[in-house]
Amino acid sequence: MAKIPEDVIETVRTATNIADVVGQYVQLKKSGKNLFGLCPFHEERTPSFSVSEDKQIFHCFSCGRGGNVFKFLMELEHVSFREAVVKVADFSHVDLDTEYREEANAPAVDSKTGQLIDLHEQAAKLYHHILVNTEMGQPALDYLHQRGLTDATIEQYQLGFAPGQRLLKPFFDQRQADYQLLRQSGLFIENTQGELRDRFTERVMFPLRNASGHVAAFSGRVLKKTEDQPKYLNSPETALFTKSRLLFNFDLARPAIRQAGEVTLFEGYMDVISAAQAGVLNGIASMGTSLTTEQIYAIERTTDKINVCYDGDTPGQRATQRAIGLLQQHSHLQVSVIQLPEGQDPDEYRRAHGDEAFQQVMQSAKETPIRFQLRYLRRDRALDTDSERLAYLNDVMPLLAQVSEPVALDLYLNQLANEFQLDKSALVAQLKQVRQSTAAQQERQHVPAPTPVPLTAPVETVHQQRRPLTRLERAERQLLYWLLHDRNVWAKVTQVPDFCFVHDDYQVIYTLAQGYFQTHQAYQSAQFTDFIQEERLQQLVIELESTISLTAVTPREIDDYLKVIMDEAPLDAQLRAKKRALTEASRLGDAAQQRQLVIEIVQLEQQRQANKQV
Ligand SMILES: [Zn+2]
Repeated sequence: MAKIPEDVIETVRTATNIADVVGQYVQLKKSGKNLFGLCPFHEERTPSFSVSEDKQIFHCFSCGRGGNVFKFLMELEHVSFREAVVKVADFSHVDLDTEYREEANAPAVDSKTGQLIDLHEQAAKLYHHILVNTEMGQPALDYLHQRGLTDATIEQYQLGFAPGQRLLKPFFDQRQADYQLLRQSGLFIENTQGELRDRFTERVMFPLRNASGHVAAFSGRVLKKTEDQPKYLNSPETALFTKSRLLFNFDLARPAIRQAGEVTLFEGYMDVISAAQAGVLNGIASMGTSLTTEQIYAIERTTDKINVCYDGDTPGQRATQRAIGLLQQHSHLQVSVIQLPEGQDPDEYRRAHGDEAFQQVMQSAKETPIRFQLRYLRRDRALDTDSERLAYLNDVMPLLAQVSEPVALDLYLNQLANEFQLDKSALVAQLKQVRQSTAAQQERQHVPAPTPVPLTAPVETVHQQRRPLTRLERAERQLLYWLLHDRNVWAKVTQVPDFCFVHDDYQVIYTLAQGYFQTHQAYQSAQFTDFIQEERLQQLVIELESTISLTAVTPREIDDYLKVIMDEAPLDAQLRAKKRALTEASRLGDAAQQRQLVIEIVQLEQQRQANKQV
């Protein structure tokens, strides 16, 4: 397999703006020179993840991850450097010779995760083949056609069928798949003798892909309803599949979500697939109706608007109410509810009215959560007696108390006043009471008001929470930074006899930079980090790049940094020598020499400590 040459990698890199690639996964907002967003690598509520378009690097001030565009994809999608280059090339429409491509497209079978994914993708292929090409699959195929799915859609979502004959186990036996791996895959049920049997039988199979687009689990829907079988059966949790994390179709929907600026949350897989076939491509579904905070978090990183479009029946309405509550409690997402006419569910609506009407209704049927809740609260209420109306109004008031826009509030109050033939001022008075009592309650419970997400760079505050830097290290960092960025500084420092950094990491980076400048004219951080290769050192360089702001440096400042470092270096060298001597003295059993050396070491340590505190 041909190694991708550096000039090709350069072409790919220069054809790409890192912000565009990161922007596919993280919602970025401009703040000063950089872009900020919520870090995709860990859970956080205030953005500490930054992207510099100048330097073409990303850096998280909270978890410390950082690097260039390739590194970003390597970390996020768990792919190799080569695969990341291929992905970026495709993103930027750079033609890449096929010889660099092949390996990247082959499944990653080296790691256990890779092997499990490979197993799932093979299973998906088998189930799909059975569905579309065999007699066994015909009833399931008829069912999907009857649900209005086209062959293209069935192909795109790799829908399949698991027949009663339990073909998966013999299929893998033939390929001599590893028994332990099969056991851990969740695709089989194990009996007391340790024998494995297909978990899914007589079910229409929906492959569940993870955020990177790999099949990580399955959901099987019964073809013929029976009393003792659940309608949907999911894979159990495995190394690949965590139910609370996975969002159905998130991988395919992501570009559409970015483009539309909003995501639509459906209740079931069929709704998502059916909507996509009708051209509504930004649809996703949680596993089952309960949305988790982890899923909400993943959504929030991609967009700031969400439409909840659940079924029109009672469970669907209840789930909508619950989803609104969760979204409002755990995110800053702007929530809308889409309620289809006559309580239809999305799939029903599309089949009854066609694709175009479906696309339109997805826009026109949007309503605010308050409006949905006003309606939700009157379900199952006759509202024909005063006491029922009063009970309804009592439920409604706390909701209205949360509405902060005066115009919207006025609208709701007018509607209520009209409908119930009440004096609007009476409603306003009651609302005031509710607001006062909730405020008092919050004060008693010390509930802090939700803090808005600050979009200014939280750089300094977050960074300062980490290990404080010593004076020496600050000098080393500054000097290293300017060595990389300023050719005059480079010329000067490389002339200083016996100059070296005290800390090994900086010294190693300095040495690597000497090699880098022999083959590269100008310094580019996004390129230099690839040159370095070692992860820890890459991160150090990225940290320098994002914490030191690029202005000028005076020769005087450079002299100061040099002095701090040179003063420190001999002390360190002395300490190392004394410690070596102490080891030697211990080995020889020279007690007097040991005592003397310990005293000297302590003195040197103290001196070093004192220097650091200056
Ligand atoms: Zn982070």
